[in-house]
Amino acid sequence: MIYDANNHIVDKKILIVGLSKSGYNVAKLLASSNNITITDKNDEEINKINELRELGVTFIKSDTQENILDSSYDLLIRNPGVDPHNKIIIKSKELNIPVLNDIEVAYHYLPKTVKIIGITGSNGKTTTTTMIYEILHKMLGDRVILGGNIGYPLSEIVPKVKDDSILVLEISDHQLYDCVDFKTNISVLTMLCPTHLDFHDNYENYINVKKKIFNHHSKDDIAIINYINEDSLKITKDINSTKFYFNGKNAEIKNEAIYINDEEIIKLDDIKIKGQHNYENIMACLLVVNEFGLDKDLIKEYFTNFKGVEHRLEYVNTVNDVSYYNDSKATNPTSTYIAINSFKGNVHLILGGFERKQDFNELNDVINKVKCIYAIGECEQRVFDYANSQGIHSIKCHTLENAMNEISMNVKPGDVVLLSPASASWDQYKRFEDRGDEFKKIVNNL
Ligand code: ADP
Repeated sequence: MIYDANNHIVDKKILIVGLSKSGYNVAKLLASSNNITITDKNDEEINKINELRELGVTFIKSDTQENILDSSYDLLIRNPGVDPHNKIIIKSKELNIPVLNDIEVAYHYLPKTVKIIGITGSNGKTTTTTMIYEILHKMLGDRVILGGNIGYPLSEIVPKVKDDSILVLEISDHQLYDCVDFKTNISVLTMLCPTHLDFHDNYENYINVKKKIFNHHSKDDIAIINYINEDSLKITKDINSTKFYFNGKNAEIKNEAIYINDEEIIKLDDIKIKGQHNYENIMACLLVVNEFGLDKDLIKEYFTNFKGVEHRLEYVNTVNDVSYYNDSKATNPTSTYIAINSFKGNVHLILGGFERKQDFNELNDVINKVKCIYAIGECEQRVFDYANSQGIHSIKCHTLENAMNEISMNVKPGDVVLLSPASASWDQYKRFEDRGDEFKKIVNNL
């Protein structure tokens, strides 16, 4: 048994893999009552390490973390980024040691009375989570707490949670992967498309992991589902939740406005962020907010001001009549497709990054809007070959800096420069935010 009668983890020998925000916070949550070792490939975060040491946690810097694990451990806590193919995960299976992560562990430390809103999907998680949180926070104040994959691990927010808290949690497939007991009251599935196939091996596995956002639901719980996304419909066919749909049925666009259950809520002209995908996120968000009472004036005020989330098709600047957009968060071809499609044409596209078997052919229908592709990152050769196969001029640049130099010699007034790499950033950057920040810095110095 992992949990005691109070649903807490006590007197266990635990190995935490990864001193990220979640590893650090979960170690703090469990340190007083367990024997904890935390391991990471680097020991740069010395303040965090010292703080944990003072709490009795052992820190081991190691490149071969699997060698630390032996049968004396009761539990392994995986950073969501640690792949199921990782040697340490394979070894834990061989040794029959359960593997969990931050969300699943911290969930057991929440009062049973809290309401949990969980948002997942291949794309649109952060945008939808942000909008739901900000609107509910305006309505209900500090009872509403933001967390999850959005940068505040659940174990970090546990100490702030009160009996009547409402948690708005962004949840990724990497987190859902180990979920067993975790349960929401309202779950949003924005949409599904092939991504993270390296982690899950195949799409079927991936969508079945996403289905866990509806785990343990009864008809008292709510599922918010995209009515025109076939895979979302497929995996939600047999869930027990009360289902509400956007893109049809409960939330739809008619007469240039968003309607919830046939009532006009907001005109599209009153919404600052643009693009069909953002309207879909707004519909999903409004279905959640509807459960707490929709105040049309508040909704209008919010969406006339909301500029979108940083690094998501973020407008940076216009220099010499060339406009620059930072969509560094586009880590798969579906997001890049959407970004390209938001422009009329004349796009200079910076494409590529971490090699993840992404299929650039998904861009074929919109690639004629692109004047030139600047191939960067680990998969630059595949990007270059793809561009050639489509008859689009392409330049191998390897780095963003080189790409921006090439671009400065190629652009003409009226053109658009778009960083939308369809790839994760981990080959050259720690985080996609760093890639977007570098782009913005270069643009702002032009
Ligand atoms: P996530 O957190 O799931 O990665 P974000 O809200 O951060 O999603 O958006 C990332 C990118 O995904 C956006 O820049 C946009 O290109 C694309 N995107 C956002 N919402 C949707 C949606 N509902 N459907 C398809 N693509 C979307």
